[in-house]
Amino acid sequence: MSRIVVVSNRVAVARDPEKTRARAGGLAVALEATLRESGGLWFGWSGETTQNRHRTPKVTKAGQVSYAILDLTRAERNEYYNGFANQTLWPLFHYRTDLTTYERGHEKGYVEVNRFFARHLAKLLRQDDLVWVHDYHLLPMGEELRRLGIPQPMGFFLHIPFPPPEILLTLPNHEAIVRSLFAYDLVGFQTPSDLRAFQVYVTQEAGGEVRRNSIVGAFGRTIRTQAFPISIDTREFAEMADSQAAKREYERTRASMRGRELILGVDRLDYSKGLREKFRSFERFLDQRAKSRGKVVLMQIAPPSRGDVAEYREIRRDLEQLTGHINGRFSEPDWVPIRYLNRSFQRANLAGLYRASRVALVTPFRDGMNLVAKEFVAAQSPDDPGVLIISRFAGAARELNDALVVNPYDTDGVANAINRALTMRRRERVERWSSMMDVLEDNDLTAWRRKYVGALRRTGLSARASRSL
Ligand code: UDP
Repeated sequence: MSRIVVVSNRVAVARDPEKTRARAGGLAVALEATLRESGGLWFGWSGETTQNRHRTPKVTKAGQVSYAILDLTRAERNEYYNGFANQTLWPLFHYRTDLTTYERGHEKGYVEVNRFFARHLAKLLRQDDLVWVHDYHLLPMGEELRRLGIPQPMGFFLHIPFPPPEILLTLPNHEAIVRSLFAYDLVGFQTPSDLRAFQVYVTQEAGGEVRRNSIVGAFGRTIRTQAFPISIDTREFAEMADSQAAKREYERTRASMRGRELILGVDRLDYSKGLREKFRSFERFLDQRAKSRGKVVLMQIAPPSRGDVAEYREIRRDLEQLTGHINGRFSEPDWVPIRYLNRSFQRANLAGLYRASRVALVTPFRDGMNLVAKEFVAAQSPDDPGVLIISRFAGAARELNDALVVNPYDTDGVANAINRALTMRRRERVERWSSMMDVLEDNDLTAWRRKYVGALRRTGLSARASRSL
């Protein structure tokens, strides 16, 4: 069987799967499992910077799996990671043209880092490898590898949304970005609507065509495109909610609630997550439902991220103010409506918190998938499950359509959904939960990675055969 080579911005180098699971989350574990099954290499940035411009990958091996990581210079990190990836592509692909900045220097640095990675990866590749590139940091990676004459099958998976052409066209180099995706044999998206947005661009802006089976042709190349909604390890997460660590967190939290109901939010501190509006909707709920005051608490876990970027510092400041405003307005000597926790938790503790909550409030403006929503469902107790409220703009809403699906821009609508969730009868909660759980059991993380790798194997091998004709 061919070896799999995973390429991602960051590499979770860990010999101990338990530690990886606790720190890096489900995706890292799934990718490790893929690599272990067929032997493999995981390649990417170490996360470190160096002053040394002459670098070679640091290679380590654990069993069947090798890891190769490279440091970046500070300038490279600023242009590639903080710059083009996180100040251009991230906001733009989340439909935030208002927050998108474009600098030619950043774009140049981004392409150069991809080229630098490609040069080093090319030396490590074997004849029959399958290459699987991940996410928006590495869009041009395939093209750079092909320039070096690499014929191996290559796939790309985009973890974030793909914007409609009207948005993408605001990026000065939009054509180069889309063209670079045609170097792969398979391009995967999170949802059918991301796939559609890509295909509309191809037909309307690139003069290409969409043929049967999502085979797409443009720029003189033909590739396969498909939606592969990412998931979680459903069974493992359900079991984790019964673990000792989860139970301790559950007990501690429930005891502190003194019979009140808990609404939980878990979101990285990111403007795409709609946190300000979530808090305003909760405020509206408290405004309109005076009887609920004192009986319910919103616990928002919001680990800070990307503090080097100004917008992230700003949202942090705003949320601190908003929390102060709402708590100042409604608190009683024995009750504070919002518990705002600006730090991260291990997944087992999160599982306990999910189970301790009556409602999960997941209201991003735009989200590739949103794994928190899936984890919340998996962690519930089958005979007394909580209610998921989810934004229609999270990829997960498509599969979890038995949740209460809301529009996060509609403050009153979200406030009403909170009330409906808190008053929902057990029978309805169980019905909704079990149908969502069926979906998550069918499409779990193992199914996701096997589907992707299977499609890459099929598409890539026939493409390679026609490349060598
Ligand atoms: N997470 C975590 N600790 C935290 C907060 C989040 O381990 O304190 C995990 C969470 O369990 C989930 C992931 O981080 O697996 C967040 O994924 P999601 O798709 O919801 O959002 P992203 O941060 O990738 O945009």
